[in-house]
Amino acid sequence: MRQLLIAGNWKMHGTRASAARLAGETLQALDASTDRDIVVCPPFVHLVEVGRAIQGSSVILGAQNLCAEEDGAYTGEVSGAMLRDCGCRYVIVGHSERRALYGENDALVARKFMAAQRASLTPILCLGETLEQRRRGQSREVVTRQLHAVLDAAGIAAFGQATIAYEPVWAIGTGNTATPEQAQEVHALIRSSLAAQDAKIAAAIRLLYGGSVKASNAAALFHMPDIDGGLVGGASLQAQEFAAICRAGAASI
Ligand code: PEP
Repeated sequence: MRQLLIAGNWKMHGTRASAARLAGETLQALDASTDRDIVVCPPFVHLVEVGRAIQGSSVILGAQNLCAEEDGAYTGEVSGAMLRDCGCRYVIVGHSERRALYGENDALVARKFMAAQRASLTPILCLGETLEQRRRGQSREVVTRQLHAVLDAAGIAAFGQATIAYEPVWAIGTGNTATPEQAQEVHALIRSSLAAQDAKIAAAIRLLYGGSVKASNAAALFHMPDIDGGLVGGASLQAQEFAAICRAGAASI
């Protein structure tokens, strides 16, 4: 059975002090149960502080982005090795905000995915269609294209050390959560696309759902056969709510 994974995307909020406080509150709010993996992804400049706050706990440190290059004259960028050096084990790759606001295309996302793995980080690869694409009936086509861009570049074996998050853009930060059935349909598509190349890797990979996950809808989502956890934005900034999402997951598995 796949172990549930819940990742909190803290986005660009707060100060070093407030991030450390949130980490502490999150630890306090979580119960001692370890039957799920919990990852928190603060902004780059809060990583060390948050890493210190969660040291010795089972909560894992992740980052929100990385550079596709390894080292050198890339002003303003942060490499996978730097993130690893700060204590990260996971990194979000291809978040829809990066794709929409910073021009990250499928090819760049694939390069970032591979850069993460070269640095021994597990990428959380985000895929998802916009509202317009869904209305046009293109959800499956868009997600398949985004997935294959990485599959073709990195190869199926790379997905043995990766996590995928299906995040419909229309559900992120909007309060419009996909129904469990809508999410399951796309998750099943992702898993079967991977299974066409390697059934074992497809069966083992964790597929997270992201988009307005809350304590009130988490259990129903996590109960679906191909949903193995969540990528949580807004609700991860409230320790009690995030902990309740983590508990909902634990209770439904
Ligand atoms: C996200 O930022 O990846 C996300 C899913 O945000 P929210 O949970 O706020 O919709």
